[in-house]
Amino acid sequence: MSTQTPQHSGDVTVVDEFAQAVASHADVTTDQAVLAERGRDYWGVGGVAGLLLRPHGRDDIAPIMRLAAQHHVEIVPRGGASNCSGGMMPTAGRVLLDLSGLDQILEIDTGNYCARVEPGVINSDLQAALEPHGLCFSPDPVSAHLATVGGNIIENAGGPHALKYGVTYNHVLSVVVVLPDGSTIRLSADDDGPDLLGVVIGSEGTLGIITEATVALRPIAAVTHSLMGAFATAREGADTIAAVIASGVVPAAVEWLDRSGIAGLQQFYDTGYPLDADSIVLIDVDGTAQEVAHDQKIVERVLRERATEVRIAEEDKARAALWYGRLNAPNSVVQSGKGFFIGDVTVPRDRIPEMQEAIQATAARHCDGLLFIAVCGHAGDGDLHPTTFYDKDNPLAPSALEAANNEIIEAALALGGTITGEHGVGTEKIQFMTRRFTPVEIAAQRSIKKAFDPAGLLNPGIMLPERSAAEPELDAFGAAVRGALTGGISPDPRAPLTAGENTDIAVNLGNLSLVVGADATLDQLNGYLDERGVTCAAVPTTGQERTIGELVATATGVERAAIRHVLLGADVTVVDGQLPARFGAETMKDVAGYDTKRLYIGAHGAFGALRTLIFKIAVKT
Ligand SMILES: Cc1cc2nc3c(=O)[nH]c(=O)nc-3n(C[C@H](O)[C@H](O)[C@H](O)COP(=O)(O)OP(=O)(O)OC[C@H]3O[C@@H](n4cnc5c(N)ncnc54)[C@H](O)[C@@H]3O)c2cc1C
Repeated sequence: MSTQTPQHSGDVTVVDEFAQAVASHADVTTDQAVLAERGRDYWGVGGVAGLLLRPHGRDDIAPIMRLAAQHHVEIVPRGGASNCSGGMMPTAGRVLLDLSGLDQILEIDTGNYCARVEPGVINSDLQAALEPHGLCFSPDPVSAHLATVGGNIIENAGGPHALKYGVTYNHVLSVVVVLPDGSTIRLSADDDGPDLLGVVIGSEGTLGIITEATVALRPIAAVTHSLMGAFATAREGADTIAAVIASGVVPAAVEWLDRSGIAGLQQFYDTGYPLDADSIVLIDVDGTAQEVAHDQKIVERVLRERATEVRIAEEDKARAALWYGRLNAPNSVVQSGKGFFIGDVTVPRDRIPEMQEAIQATAARHCDGLLFIAVCGHAGDGDLHPTTFYDKDNPLAPSALEAANNEIIEAALALGGTITGEHGVGTEKIQFMTRRFTPVEIAAQRSIKKAFDPAGLLNPGIMLPERSAAEPELDAFGAAVRGALTGGISPDPRAPLTAGENTDIAVNLGNLSLVVGADATLDQLNGYLDERGVTCAAVPTTGQERTIGELVATATGVERAAIRHVLLGADVTVVDGQLPARFGAETMKDVAGYDTKRLYIGAHGAFGALRTLIFKIAVKT
């Protein structure tokens, strides 16, 4: 992973004064060894803060943040420190706020399928507490034993089973957030109006501190079976994934390892994976015994069309053996002792074959500076982790790594993908933000940051690049964000809800996505979806004369809830000058920057108009 230098430091003397002021709210540490250890993430990236605070309780966060605002002290939040983005950059002039001690599960409500937790609860501890009730929290990052629920929310973490069950966003019912000025707000999934909760989820600790969360739970599936297909070429493996998705079966997980990934892992773990395969695909199907029997039959048939070998694991022990290698992939990266960089590109699922080819062509082009690029990932969501390895003492490595990263990012963007599907931008992918977003799109995101954190005190240096001269001032957009944050928007009743008069409709069956012009009516849309044998949960069967753009811009209640869960992206205008912008993409996962499209839901045009919308769809069963 590349070494990052924190961008700028606050004032060290002020930090000393602040230490005295907060002493009644937190354990205060200045021990250098502790500061160094707590300031690094799992990968060793980070820095040494001037001070470490361990709040006595979650009610102490608001006074701590108020005092930080008064002393103008920069705060770096910390959960389990497992982020993969260089997301914590403490310096001598900054204060590390360690939330990992706030680890109480406050309530498990089995009747209403929800749990209320403090932010520092480790994901796997929550799962262990839920298991006796036959329940689980769906987000299952491979780091579940390290990562906190607060960290999952603030990074919008995914995981192998996000394919069927969604990412963290889909499972957060409400959060209590302390803003950088010390005020406290509660954001709920069922608040009407712009989806501010959706903007805070995935905000990488830059907008507010999550001090409590209520998360949705689901019953643990009665039966889970795992299948593995091995392929002679990566192309056949990737084509198989697209074929599984298009079959209409929704597996619980579809994971991928390419030849370099299989060989790299085998150096440290006896995975049992076929070493002569060019790629393997791991698939979980879950549900009732009857559902699993049905899905397994279809998946097995699709695998056998191209695989050189198919394995099926129905017992827990055999399943664990099949997953053992994949789940240890991150550990083997660290154990390699090599320099590495973990990519996290997501492309529409039907573009995985081209993405995989582009990655391996990049590896071949830079073989003088790099060792190899191993690819694993949550392929069912189109999310690949190309992990580039290099010898630390190879003088050609730095330039080769930079060139390879650039090429991989360019390839993902050219395929309609994004620069990060689940790891976040942090400091490591900040350089790619201007490739992913236009100056208008970055300016809109900067307005969000400014509305939440006008003094720029929270998690400085993370996510947004330095301001460029090309970024326009977006006063009206910023005012609308502030309005939403302080009690409600007041859109101009004449504000257009849609723009561009676009009524085009297209579905991509290999990706299970729908791209629809905002001026298409629900009637037109339902007819089109029916003809193709697919459904979209956001499209109601009532109010057919409404346009889809009008629906999204004015949605409340159940219609708003349905839109939230399947909206992938939006082409919009930004209200200042109705400048065009796109937020989100035709990818199943996208955590690049603030999830700005969320603001347009139920906003009555306050942030601008809708031009095109992108949704997830499902095959009719
Ligand atoms: C081995 C390994 C495997 C991984 N696998 C996955 C995977 O499958 N899927 C996936 O999505 N990610 C994965 N990750 C990345 C990582 O685990 C997730 O992003 C996780 O959600 C981070 O949680 P954390 O508690 O460790 O957060 P941290 O790393 O402590 O913090 C993450 C960011 O949020 C801020 N922050 C932390 N807590 C709060 C809070 N309460 N309020 C406000 N800001 C806060 C921090 O300042 C930082 O910027 C993996 C990481 C590792 C090491």
